[in-house]
Amino acid sequence: MSEQELDAYWMPFTHQRYFKQHHERRLLAQAEGAYYITEEGERLFDALSGLWCCGLGHRHPRIVEAVKRQLDTLDYSTAFQMGYRPQFTLAQRIVEAAPAGMGQVFFCNSGSEAVDTALKIALAYHRLNGQGQRTRLIGREKGYHGVGFGGISVGGMVANRKMYPSAMLTGVDHLPHTHHLGQMAFSRGEPDWGAHLADELERLVALHDASTIAAVIVEPMQGSAGVVVPPKGYLKRLREICSKHGILLIFDEVICGFGRMGQPFAAQHFEVTPDLITFAKAVNNGTVPMGGVVVREDIHAAFMQGPEHMVEFFHGYTYSGHPLAVAAAHATLDVVRDEHIYARVNELSPVLETAIHSLKGEPNVIDIRNCQLAAAVELAPIEGKPGLRAIKVFEEALRRGVMFRFTGDIIAMGPPFISTPEELKRMVEILGESIRAAG
Ligand code: PMP
Repeated sequence: MSEQELDAYWMPFTHQRYFKQHHERRLLAQAEGAYYITEEGERLFDALSGLWCCGLGHRHPRIVEAVKRQLDTLDYSTAFQMGYRPQFTLAQRIVEAAPAGMGQVFFCNSGSEAVDTALKIALAYHRLNGQGQRTRLIGREKGYHGVGFGGISVGGMVANRKMYPSAMLTGVDHLPHTHHLGQMAFSRGEPDWGAHLADELERLVALHDASTIAAVIVEPMQGSAGVVVPPKGYLKRLREICSKHGILLIFDEVICGFGRMGQPFAAQHFEVTPDLITFAKAVNNGTVPMGGVVVREDIHAAFMQGPEHMVEFFHGYTYSGHPLAVAAAHATLDVVRDEHIYARVNELSPVLETAIHSLKGEPNVIDIRNCQLAAAVELAPIEGKPGLRAIKVFEEALRRGVMFRFTGDIIAMGPPFISTPEELKRMVEILGESIRAAG
């Protein structure tokens, strides 16, 4: 590519100057199943399923067919005032997959939009319920909730926040994170230690009074922070405290939803039912941008009581429920059902757990974490500079045919649900080789 071309595209979340130096081997041309194929013809195992979205593998024939067929029927359905039947049937299928008591789905186009939509629903709900003083939102340190102003405000990643101090939502607090290597390093699945960290919510309630707090938002499993797994009992405690004080609990399931946890939602895996769930990514296998929010029926009902001539929820996106995204989602849910994907994830998860924990003792490995079909290996930073070691491991693995994701010095993986046990074992072997090669 020319210098100008390399300069013209401002890449998201990418170390772009580094990319420019190494771009020859980094250009993807094609994908099939669990593999990407580069312009140079190298096959790369996609250890993060795109960005946690392509669980069924790339270009699943039934999804491809559904999107192509959709293009022959209806390309765009105006999102306002008119409907398109498959949007309604998709919403109903998602409601059926969700925990009991959740009754409606609002569609948008990304995880960030889903988060901002959920926060707005929570605030508006309290107001409609005569509790408009409940305006405070509570997120969590190290949380990632996308890049909208709402999402970065409740999110807890400093790099996402530090440029915009004056643009943050006001009245936001953060629960402490649950990433403590001292007490929980090398836990298999949910750490035994740490449920008490949820009690910090009681401290915030005592500080502000429950009557001022609208909602708590957490990722059940923190993906972007590097697969930070909730301590045993932690989410249940959050649920209890929220219920006690009339605070809404939002699970941001943009990564967890639709397969990664071996259930439609992490809510079911952890047996904790929130009041709102955000989703995106795997809902349609990442084929066409889509996100959404599932809400408890009575939250929706609160919106349906105003004057009849008024729009009940003055919110939406030009591409809410886009027909191509909807078609891809229907096909995805069909495949999930017909190929028993949740059962498959539950079978593969122990394979990943055993394999990944075999890396304990490799040089510079300071923690290994796993949660269903998600795992991470945390490495000691070189001279206190985060990311330097991980990028070396990333490069070594790429050379060996596996594409991982790294964040700071954490190597994360969320392999496709359709991976074979052998592929998972090979992926981890290559990670081990790459860690040793990186030194
Ligand atoms: N919430 C969570 C939990 C996420 O993991 C992500 C993306 N990784 C988002 C929100 C934002 O999603 P998007 O990039 O589609 O806006």
